[in-house]
Amino acid sequence: MSESRSQSRSDGRPNGRPGQRPALTLDTELTFLKGAGPAVAMKLKPLGLERVRDLLLHLPIRYEDRRRIVPISDVVHGAEALVCGRIESTEVRFGAKRWLRVVIDDGRASLVLRFFHFNEAQKAAMVTGHWLRAFGTVRVGNSGAEIVHPEYRVAETAVQLPPEDRLTPIYGLTTGITQTRVRALIQQALAVAQHDPDYIADFPGLGGPTTLAALRTLHEPDGRDLGDLLLDRHPAQIRLMREELLAHQLCMRLLRKQTKAAPGARIEAVLPASAKLQEKLPFALTGAQRRVISDIAHDLAAGQPMLRLIQGDVGSGKTVVAAAAMLGAAMSGLQSVLMAPTELLVEQHARTLSAWLNAVGVDVGLLTGKMKKSERDAALHRAATGETPVWVGTHALFQGDMKFKKLALVVVDEQHRFGVGQRLALRDKGPAGVTPHQLIMSATPIPRTLAQTVYADLDVSVIDELPPGRTPVQTVVLSNERRFDVLSRIGEACRLGRQAYWVCTLIEENTELQAQAAEETYRQLREELPELRVGLVHGRLKAAEKEAQMRAFQSGATQLLVATTVIEVGVDVPNASIMIIDNAERLGLSQLHQLRGRVGRGATASQCLLMYQPPLGEGSRARLDVMRTTTDGFVIAQKDLELRGPGELLGRRQTGLIGMKIADPVRDSALIPGLQKLADDWWLKSPKDAKRMIARWIGDADRYAQV
Ligand code: ADP
Ligand code: MG
Repeated sequence: MSESRSQSRSDGRPNGRPGQRPALTLDTELTFLKGAGPAVAMKLKPLGLERVRDLLLHLPIRYEDRRRIVPISDVVHGAEALVCGRIESTEVRFGAKRWLRVVIDDGRASLVLRFFHFNEAQKAAMVTGHWLRAFGTVRVGNSGAEIVHPEYRVAETAVQLPPEDRLTPIYGLTTGITQTRVRALIQQALAVAQHDPDYIADFPGLGGPTTLAALRTLHEPDGRDLGDLLLDRHPAQIRLMREELLAHQLCMRLLRKQTKAAPGARIEAVLPASAKLQEKLPFALTGAQRRVISDIAHDLAAGQPMLRLIQGDVGSGKTVVAAAAMLGAAMSGLQSVLMAPTELLVEQHARTLSAWLNAVGVDVGLLTGKMKKSERDAALHRAATGETPVWVGTHALFQGDMKFKKLALVVVDEQHRFGVGQRLALRDKGPAGVTPHQLIMSATPIPRTLAQTVYADLDVSVIDELPPGRTPVQTVVLSNERRFDVLSRIGEACRLGRQAYWVCTLIEENTELQAQAAEETYRQLREELPELRVGLVHGRLKAAEKEAQMRAFQSGATQLLVATTVIEVGVDVPNASIMIIDNAERLGLSQLHQLRGRVGRGATASQCLLMYQPPLGEGSRARLDVMRTTTDGFVIAQKDLELRGPGELLGRRQTGLIGMKIADPVRDSALIPGLQKLADDWWLKSPKDAKRMIARWIGDADRYAQV
């Protein structure tokens, strides 16, 4: 394997002689695969795809059923459909943007296809009179049925466009990479795995199909039991879920054992720090906050590294708890860092911590990706000399070259984007011989019992009390036929100086399409509410633009913020008191809860309007009902667990939870107890398999060499 790498030149290509590809192994870089030049490889990197083995575990996020052509007259709004018709017309239109409008007709009804990105060749191929087969989410509006950016094929006759005989796997993508490309690369990876000793050898005691057979089923679904696949209940899926959950259990055991064996800095100033902070705070700490701070004080004084998870519902006030711990470290002459998943959150935390800690004479440093080189160098210097005790930055901060003089505490906010693998990296950041204390903060509503299983390596503290003076968010569920009422409600609230979020949802793996949907809503709302100042954020905006938009909203310069679900995590704008979630029926409970947590943060009574597209399915109705009747994250988590039985298709895997690829610890909680036992057994009886399993699913096998 190292051979194949040494043959690569700086451009990542083999040594220029065609036909001289090195023998492919799972460790070969992607540039050696057919169809993956350096440019493609660059684009795949953000998906975590760098070597052939990464492709194997890039599992479909869902499947599309293109096994039946739906008559255009039968298409349902909001549902995906495979349609086929004769091309009636193809024309370029000019709206806010240039777009291509194609009409197809299947003899009974017609349907419009809209393309916002297209080239001349594509347009030319859509010849009037030829046939076109398209797949996508149908919208039925006043002007009939349409699909925006379908996947499509054109042929001279309809017979040349039969439906598929297998389910179509859909993968997470980035711009510039197509499903077809990813599928082709995965095919090559599967062929390599076929001869790889690690994949050929099975593991003891796991049952079900072998890993390789399971991967084949997922990537190339064929034959029977396809229904089970759609429901995440296929034996192949269960095998891989068990592997992944087991790998995490194994890893957590190892992590805890190793961490606790190392010395940790002794910090005895947390309670005094909390008292000092309290003097400057504009509010009194809640009982729950004080209790959790004393848990932390106890851990930090013990001389062993802390491994603690704080679970606290959205808005429960986790940040101030972190601030007390960080101030405690600073008062002991040590450094601490708070990491958050997005630049937006980092900036917000930096503002909050500065406001609190500067008041007691403690400096707060900020490190973001977009800092100028000179600023960054200065920041790195202040971290390395120990001059600045408290730091805030994104997770990327830790992948880079940042060095601390005396780092003693790491706080990780919104842990559900931060898996075990990443936590491993933290250990190396302390001064030689000292492992930093770890404080993980999460609002992910997971029932308490489950949290203890999922985060088996962590001690758990719960903030089970909201700050006083909050009026619970009033939640209303209503059909989008009442959009007009909703608009007038927003208009009225904004006239009274309040602010509102309008969240667009789209079940799509493609951020491009999500962005387009948000842009469309934005245009529409600006027309409908001309007196309001409207802002827009989505994942396709440049970081600076996104921040400018958020800042404008935070300062009140914009009154209504149209957003995709990017605002889900942690954003704190207390004056925002109305949230509209469009097509709320598409989202899972935990996502709805996270979103709703963005309002109800100030003293004003807040409202959350969950708009749905009728008719409402049974599962969606049940979910929206839960949202309407409770705001308690733990109750919602419990209901989520109950409701997510078989048949409950949320369209999108919720594995983002702790960075898992296929398992969902909430949905799959029943699998965990058996695996905990297996994990104990393996560490006792076959540590080699344990390490292999960790390496496969979590990576960084070298780190385990020290075990
Ligand atoms: P989360 O737990 O969701 O991270 P934050 O730490 O962002 O919550 O806190 C939410 C809001 O509540 C912030 O504006 C914060 O200043 C405020 N807050 C925190 N603790 C209290 C308290 N004890 N009393 C009143 N307000 C508080
Ligand atoms: Mg928070």
